Amino acid sequence: MHHKTQVGIVGAGPAGLMLGHLLHLNGIDSVIVENRSREYVIDRVRAGVLEQGTVDLLHAMGVGARLRQEGLRHDGVFISFLEQRHHINFGELTGGKAITVYGQNEVVKDLIEARIATSRPLYFEADHVSVDALDSSSPVIRFRHGDVDHELQCDVIAGCDGFHGVCRPSVPAGVLTMYERVYPFGWLGILAEAAPSCDELVYTLHERGFALFSMRSPTITRLYLQVPPDEPIERWSDEAIWQEMLTRMATRDGWKPSVGRIVQKSVTPMRSFVATPMRYGRLFLAGDAAHIVPPTGAKGLNLAASDVLVLARALKAFYENGQTEWLDTYSDVCLRRVWKAQRFSWWMTSTLHRAPDESAFDHQRQIADLDYLTSSRAAMTSLAEQYVGLPAEVSFESAGL
Ligand SMILES: Cc1cc2nc3c(=O)[nH]c(=O)nc-3n(C[C@H](O)[C@H](O)[C@H](O)COP(=O)(O)OP(=O)(O)OC[C@H]3O[C@@H](n4cnc5c(N)ncnc54)[C@H](O)[C@@H]3O)c2cc1C
Repeated sequence: MHHKTQVGIVGAGPAGLMLGHLLHLNGIDSVIVENRSREYVIDRVRAGVLEQGTVDLLHAMGVGARLRQEGLRHDGVFISFLEQRHHINFGELTGGKAITVYGQNEVVKDLIEARIATSRPLYFEADHVSVDALDSSSPVIRFRHGDVDHELQCDVIAGCDGFHGVCRPSVPAGVLTMYERVYPFGWLGILAEAAPSCDELVYTLHERGFALFSMRSPTITRLYLQVPPDEPIERWSDEAIWQEMLTRMATRDGWKPSVGRIVQKSVTPMRSFVATPMRYGRLFLAGDAAHIVPPTGAKGLNLAASDVLVLARALKAFYENGQTEWLDTYSDVCLRRVWKAQRFSWWMTSTLHRAPDESAFDHQRQIADLDYLTSSRAAMTSLAEQYVGLPAEVSFESAGL
């Protein structure tokens, strides 16, 4: 089956779905091609912290109704070390900005519903997805859906297919420069049926390593522990997980996470990765397809959102008046924000984790770093403005919102 569209989007994660909706709002056609099922894409447990700008964007796009009702607004965060929690008040330090805890799967669910309501095409469970003719004026996406082979001719392809997708590897060798840092630890994450015992996230540096207390809803707690990157999850019984969580997180004032039934557990390795430029010919990479951050700064999903805002602005100008300048600057504009988020995520990760090769000096320096952070208004302001999200590189109006 041969068909045509203006923008072919590979991947129905946050980047692909948000881009599709932004284009729809500007009257631009798109087809989204996803290799997993709708249920798999929705059930995948990943990010949960939305920056102020991401929340504002989802509202401006008209897909924030459930987010407004069910999202948990947090006006600050706790940093814990030497068994004491220290509060950083985002609202006070950033002129009223906040973060919102709302699971990535909820964001994806809302975006899929919005897509279906537009009746624009979204293919789940597409097999053998490939992209071709990327340096021509009509690049192609090929895939098999059911028993039918599809050839989709596009003006532009958006590679929103995540770190393991097909788009980035389809760029000829030598075009992209890759920057990478692999960390010598991973996160063991659990979802537990336990009411969160604190209203805000608690980041902990303990002698035994990093731990993070967070939540997904008023009844579900989300907790993480630093473990070796290749740690088999089978080595951790539920009892052992709770014992380690409580050892690392409990503070002298008697605070500790509430214990409950563990309903999901997994280990995720951590890396920082950037591929530049985020464009080759008529292929534009967005989100995890172009960059990965360690989750410590909660930036992955938010970067995906800011990339597609920049891409939507460029495509709007391209279709409205043939302007290519913003397509040409897409990669540079995105990378300014990407590298700042990379730096922040690396800093949060290095300051809060214990590296296997660190010295006693390194650990004392980490404690001093956290002591400074939690006692200096300037340092707290720096963390707060980065955590709630640096300003968008382009205005919502320029992307047609
Ligand atoms: C296990 C895990 C835990 C994470 N935890 C956090 C966290 O706590 N905080 C945080 O901020 N970030 C976290 N992240 C990062 C965050 O989830 C990502 O940054 C975010 O999902 C990026 O969105 P995306 O749309 O760019 O990519 P993705 O969400 O990866 O979406 C890409 C989509 O493309 C599809 N796809 C892949 N290959 C193909 C193909 N060949 N053809 C068609 N479709 C394809 C995929 O199935 C997927 O639906 C986590 C990531 C992982 C993997």
